[in-house]
Amino acid sequence: MKTPLLQFTSKGIYCAQAGVYLDPWRPVDHAIISHGHADHSRYGHQKYITHHYNLPIIKKRLGAINASSVGWGERFSVNGVDFKLHPAGHIVGSSQILVSHKGERWVFTGDYKAHYDGISDAFTPQKCHAIITECTFGIPAFKWPDPKEIHDEINRWWFDNQQNGLNSVVFAYSLGKAQRILKHLNPEIGKIFVHPAVGAMNDIIAEFKTLPPYTILTREIKKEDIQGALIITPAAVQNGSWLKKCQPYTDASASGWMAIRGNKRRRSIDRGFVISDHCDWDELLQSIEATGAEKVICTHGYTDLFAKYLSEQGYDARTEKTQFEETDNE
Ligand SMILES: [Zn+2]
Repeated sequence: MKTPLLQFTSKGIYCAQAGVYLDPWRPVDHAIISHGHADHSRYGHQKYITHHYNLPIIKKRLGAINASSVGWGERFSVNGVDFKLHPAGHIVGSSQILVSHKGERWVFTGDYKAHYDGISDAFTPQKCHAIITECTFGIPAFKWPDPKEIHDEINRWWFDNQQNGLNSVVFAYSLGKAQRILKHLNPEIGKIFVHPAVGAMNDIIAEFKTLPPYTILTREIKKEDIQGALIITPAAVQNGSWLKKCQPYTDASASGWMAIRGNKRRRSIDRGFVISDHCDWDELLQSIEATGAEKVICTHGYTDLFAKYLSEQGYDARTEKTQFEETDNE
């Protein structure tokens, strides 16, 4: 039997013909990295290749690594196999990885979303024979509202809180969601502060994307300086003392999981905004259809349900286990 162009091994998704792994979860010699989230860009590889925008992000997170970068659609070859990175629309610098060899084309989506978020380069489907797709939100219950309306809602919520003498705290993943929220805030409403972890990522991303003005919330900043402000912080601080300075405040979470009733209450958050950096059900189906792929391999998320549905539609669909996490943050 012919070796498939991409296969699933104990170390990660492997292209044997090239001797290269895509987003490997164990240390390998040669890794191509789709994006900067921790479950996709891990420590310990001998050599990393990623997109130009993602290079400073993973260097910040992983320290001194042997890494190089390429642009969108720029072909590079490893042992006679061609690779190209195309935007995945998930976060800044996130790629789909297109692998071509002897007329066969496979796409690994990494994490992706098909709607444009105003800051990440827009997802463009690539023609291929086989696609490895995530399906974090791969059930019909997930259907995203118009993001513009949600961003308007966030600004209104901030303004109303201010009128009521409250600060506004938004919990968002420090890489991706935080910059997307920031990008659409109206700085005329008031001052914007960010947790140092968010600030570290913003400072890198502001080198190649325009962001509204923000201030890193350090110890030196006084409580009275943040009156009426909006503060973006990772959810990890929710139960710690870091938030003391932000009082009095009301808080919100921005996540696709907020589409499920009860999630806000369970997390003791005042407000939930349905905003996701992954495809909803329709986006998944439309994106896969647009590639023309016959073979679909479903990884993290609602894999079984989604693969079953695709099989019923006539695709050659199956699931594979990976060590990509279904994060709460996206
Ligand atoms: Zn991700």
